[in-house]
Amino acid sequence: MAGIEVTALHKRYPDGTVAVDHVDLSIGDGELFVMLGPSGCGKTTTLRAIAGLERQTAGDIRIGNTLVNDLPPAERDIAMVFQFYALYPHLRTRDNLAFPLRAEGLPEPEVRKRVDEAAELMRLGPLLNRRPRRLSGGEQQRVALARALVRRPRAFLMDEPLTNLDAELRADMRTEIKHLQGQLGTTMVYVTHDQVEAMSLGHRIAILNKGRVEQIGTPLEVYDRPASLFCAAFIGSPPMNLIEVEVADGKLRGQGGLVLTPPPGLPRDRRLVAGVRPEALEVTAPGAERSVPARVVSVEWLGDEVIYVVDHGGERDVRVRMPPTVRFAADTPVGLRHSSGGTPAVYDVSTEELV
Ligand code: ATP
Repeated sequence: MAGIEVTALHKRYPDGTVAVDHVDLSIGDGELFVMLGPSGCGKTTTLRAIAGLERQTAGDIRIGNTLVNDLPPAERDIAMVFQFYALYPHLRTRDNLAFPLRAEGLPEPEVRKRVDEAAELMRLGPLLNRRPRRLSGGEQQRVALARALVRRPRAFLMDEPLTNLDAELRADMRTEIKHLQGQLGTTMVYVTHDQVEAMSLGHRIAILNKGRVEQIGTPLEVYDRPASLFCAAFIGSPPMNLIEVEVADGKLRGQGGLVLTPPPGLPRDRRLVAGVRPEALEVTAPGAERSVPARVVSVEWLGDEVIYVVDHGGERDVRVRMPPTVRFAADTPVGLRHSSGGTPAVYDVSTEELV
């Protein structure tokens, strides 16, 4: 097993596109590390560079303290699982699993032993004699994962491996991957554009934007304190409300009079935006204590919660997450207030970074 160090990684494609712009990552031995970001942010290119499938323009990659810049993929001792299962259609599950081991020249008894172990771990026993076309999408992906396992690599690299599965199966496989990674303790780098997947899987998450790292942190850190306006707008569904504020009398005040508790040490001479999670706000009856007058624009009932969209003062489309027991109709006057005792994340508009 091994940690992975990526230092000042830069990738410019021949057509001039800069896909990765000086990325530094320090991935711990045994860590499940997620790279998250919108389409085109450079996740796949970074992963492929780690795998050796793409040659970087500059920067170093170390796997377990070995500089692997000049090593071909096969010598990096990693296993990659892609969005598409890439199983051999003419081979039964058993032989699909055995293929990489036979290619390595392992003796047949050892091949059989490892295939059986991986099949047990991924619960593939009943499927060992089937060919891919007789497997469901989820089963095929489990075979693809098992095929990565049998090699006992130093690290797994996963590129959106669950994208082609339906929602329920995705949730199951997510649990399975997390469990498996914990059990094996093998370093895993997992690429996704799905924040729910990132949050539920990752020990730590790197958020990428335009080839650069915007933030690296635990799911909780990334959720509570997005490091930039980009991260604030990207993480959470719905994401944070971004409310222009001023510092006055030791408080943060929005244009419409909404009062927030400021974090300590805020600069007074800058334009500031507070990032407030929908669950940190509250819709109240009109005139309730500490509330500002607001109006419900629309209501989204989601069963276990309600998302209110409200306008108040200068702010439009403020999103508020409430329990389903609280009921206000659209187009009614209400109050809006900051409910949590916590302080919001505050951003400097000029740098777009957390103050
Ligand atoms: P997605 O989630 O859509 O796969 P990504 O974050 O994985 O996106 P990359 O595939 O790494 O992003 O692509 C990063 C940038 O590099 C994009 O602008 C993309 O168009 C560009 N790019 C990727 N491959 C090539 C290539 N072979 N030649 C030129 N540009 C490329």
